Amino acid sequence: MICSADLLTGPCKFCGYNGPGYYQKYTHDRSCPWFRIGSYNDQEAHLTKILPTILKTYFEWRKQNMDTVKPQETLEEVMAKVKTEREFQDACVSDYYAHHGKKSAVDPSRTVAAEILMMDKYIHDAQAAWAHGATDEKALDAIRKVVAMGIRCLQFHGCPERGLDCTYVIDKE
Ligand SMILES: [Zn+2]
Repeated sequence: MICSADLLTGPCKFCGYNGPGYYQKYTHDRSCPWFRIGSYNDQEAHLTKILPTILKTYFEWRKQNMDTVKPQETLEEVMAKVKTEREFQDACVSDYYAHHGKKSAVDPSRTVAAEILMMDKYIHDAQAAWAHGATDEKALDAIRKVVAMGIRCLQFHGCPERGLDCTYVIDKE
């Protein structure tokens, strides 16, 4: 349960102010409701009045944003397209080897380092496509290739299981 003390003590929940004259007028940011409302009691009275409006605005905002970030495709749909990309990659390598009179469908030069380099190259393509394009389409096209390269790397070199520890490796160093 939230009580008004939680909302009224510093740092200010609206503008972040936490300095001298915290409960005095004209110390908070100009955009803050406490810029013109000074004492704790006056702030509490005002808060009781405006809280329903704030909550209503927040829940409307949240509902709208939840709608806009809804996935456009299911995981299965995306995986099917990435699978097609993976098959295309293998076909390209097979063509390359057939052209050079070899039989292997696995490029022996595909070390983990080479895959990271390739993914990095295509991530830069995605960045350029996003920066220069009017829509996300070309960037998403490059991302599908990167994802398929990651899967190819995991196929050839083994995919470690997701551990239970969710902290980033870099945080441990
Ligand atoms: Zn404030």
